[in-house]
Amino acid sequence: MDVVLEVFDTFVFDFLYATALPLSAASSDVVSNVFNGVNSTAASAIAQVNGKGNGFVYTPSTEYFSLEPFQSAYQSSLPRDNGFRQVFSLFLITWVFGLVLYFTVASLSYVFVFDKTAFNHPKYLKNQISQEIGQAMHSMPLMAVLTAPIFLIEIKGYSKIYDTLEEAPFPMYNYLQFPLFLLFTDFCIYWIHRGLHHPLVYKKVHKPHHKWIMPTPYASHAFHPLDGWSQGLPYHIFPFIFPLQKFAYVLLFVAINVWTVMIHDGEYVANSPILNGAACHTMHHLYFNYNYGQFTTLWDRLGNSYRKPNDELFRRETKMGQDEWNRQAKEMEEMVKQVEGSDDRTYDSGETKKDL
Ligand SMILES: [Zn+2]
Ligand SMILES: [Zn+2]
Repeated sequence: MDVVLEVFDTFVFDFLYATALPLSAASSDVVSNVFNGVNSTAASAIAQVNGKGNGFVYTPSTEYFSLEPFQSAYQSSLPRDNGFRQVFSLFLITWVFGLVLYFTVASLSYVFVFDKTAFNHPKYLKNQISQEIGQAMHSMPLMAVLTAPIFLIEIKGYSKIYDTLEEAPFPMYNYLQFPLFLLFTDFCIYWIHRGLHHPLVYKKVHKPHHKWIMPTPYASHAFHPLDGWSQGLPYHIFPFIFPLQKFAYVLLFVAINVWTVMIHDGEYVANSPILNGAACHTMHHLYFNYNYGQFTTLWDRLGNSYRKPNDELFRRETKMGQDEWNRQAKEMEEMVKQVEGSDDRTYDSGETKKDL
């Protein structure tokens, strides 16, 4: 994340912090005099003010490129390497970047992939999309609050994130880190997700995500904040246990978010026995106690919780047919009764349009 932070510092935060929390006028003038001096190139100005002004010394966060700071980098009383500034900036980045990613990917998927016939499904809620977006909006800032400290610890150098390809433990590791990451996070998310279905935590933490029995792409981030955060934890823990290249870390953040949307888009293209795609995750939203995995069906198969998606989901004529839907709704309600009895229902068979 240090590269991302450097980019945002250079183009956004340096100006904001220099305006909101400036150095004393005298020290600030010294910095601007150096930057605006005759014959002064940006590089020589930076060399002159490094360590002076607010004490900040510029060192690029990667060997692959450097972004020479503007003078505002030296004119705030909170220099770039101040922990409080970093954690606050990381919170803003995580929140805003998460929002942009969510709306972009979910909207693209909604327009180009999502089959709108799902609106007629008996378990599709009234105003469901605005409810999903509302839940995601509410959760994202809180998830960002919980995530920023982990990014800070990583930026302060306590993780095994590395920069150049030569720093990998061995050359092939630069490729191996991707399958290793997928295996590790898939394993952890399986158990975390399965844990979230435990009656002690389900109602409070995971149930909001199961309100969407026929999810749209906007349900992908519609979680209780603790739910979304806990399922994101394996991603953050991985670089503290295994080496991870810093650009790969950012790329994987984007990839995971895209995948999360994809398993909620209802496009059951991949009837793969290995991939935990949208069909598997739809089965999870319909019948709860199956398919807890994120990327593969491996741990569900080993943990005896795999359920092969209904064949009807893969046939255009039957996928969005009333018969299949009624069958799904009936089976699901049966399941809720079996699991919970009729009084205190942990699972929710969902409001139907008739109820509203
Ligand atoms: Zn679940
Ligand atoms: Zn889901």
